[in-house]
Amino acid sequence: VDNSNIIVLKFGGTSVKDLDRINAVTDIIVKKYQRYKKIVVVVSAMSQETNRLIQYGLDLGGDIADREMDALLTTGEQVSMALLTMAIKKRGIKAFSLTGWQIPIQTNGVYSNARITNIDTQKILAQLTEQTIVVIPGFQGVDLDGNLNTLGRGGSDTSAVAISVSLKARVCEIYTDVKGVYTADPRICQDARKIEALTFEEMAELASEGSKVLHVRSVLFAAKNNIELRVLSSFEQNVGTVVSNEEKINQMMEKTLVTGIAHKTDEAKISIIGVADKPGVAHQIFKTLSNQNIYIDIIVQNVGQNGKNDISITIKQNQLKQALAILQKIQCDQLICNDNITTVTVVGFGMKSHSGVATVVFETLAKENINIDTITTSEIKITVLISKKYTELAVRALHKAFKLDQEKGMLL
Ligand code: ASP
Ligand code: MG
Repeated sequence: VDNSNIIVLKFGGTSVKDLDRINAVTDIIVKKYQRYKKIVVVVSAMSQETNRLIQYGLDLGGDIADREMDALLTTGEQVSMALLTMAIKKRGIKAFSLTGWQIPIQTNGVYSNARITNIDTQKILAQLTEQTIVVIPGFQGVDLDGNLNTLGRGGSDTSAVAISVSLKARVCEIYTDVKGVYTADPRICQDARKIEALTFEEMAELASEGSKVLHVRSVLFAAKNNIELRVLSSFEQNVGTVVSNEEKINQMMEKTLVTGIAHKTDEAKISIIGVADKPGVAHQIFKTLSNQNIYIDIIVQNVGQNGKNDISITIKQNQLKQALAILQKIQCDQLICNDNITTVTVVGFGMKSHSGVATVVFETLAKENINIDTITTSEIKITVLISKKYTELAVRALHKAFKLDQEKGMLL
């Protein structure tokens, strides 16, 4: 097999939500097949199916991270896989379905949040050699003891990228219900535009800071292995958004200072006031939280005073109860929590070489009279934590300030 010609296509839940959609997606696959012949398709469960199954499981006393919950959830993707394979065959084209355990896609045994450790490509390649389209369910694998595992919500993107990496595919196309990756969430910012191309790093920051188009792990995986991603709509023909390495992106377009703005409204902030200012305290706090799989986003420690210190963290709102239960056991003066917050993040590769982005961010928010609670940065992003009621105002104002509503943006 000439691997350089393998194309991986991934279709999300809304793209396969009913039989009409499955037929529409089949059109796209057939067209690709006529040109490339070596096609692997990765599918999500039909839209809302995973939620429905989770609710069934919970109603009968199951737990999210149960062995049987994972057995249940893998069926969602398996249904799409089988139906899509039938639809392709009906067009007179050879197609063959392979589940995660049939391949096998080996995972590390962590229920509801497994990682892929290995993919055996033998069965897939055997089909591709015969120019048979292979259809694979996303979001799942099997551990060394034969237990089914799922990869975490949105994990089908990661399946698609992992399969692309293992097959050394030319490109991984991710079909969704929007035209690509946007400069901001179009639901709250009407001027948001589709981004033509951006680097893996920028995409990873946007994904982890709230852009829901791609699973963040899929982007990191693609970056590490230099697999080009294309985010496209399965509802209309378009060129989508290219996610690739810096070199390629620089060839494709003039670089702008800022690429996009992401926001998250599902976070909560906990301030641990007056903990002892001595070695080992932070370690103790974060060790206990991570042992309980509480995911911490932002960490800020203030300047200590009188032998005491304040530490603030942000976590997901749905882990707030659990986190508070743990932190109640820590010696401190007070625990304050606030789930009325939003994080807004400005992302751009241009920040690596240009200063002044922070100034524009703070100036813009000041003009709108928005108070900044917390600030964190990385090489290519600035995140501010603000009161939730200012979410839309902040996103729109920053979008305008960085000229993201204009064709060319703010050039470097
Ligand atoms: N079906 C899974 C979910 O809804 C995985 C995915 O669609 O990527 O999270
Ligand atoms: Mg998704």
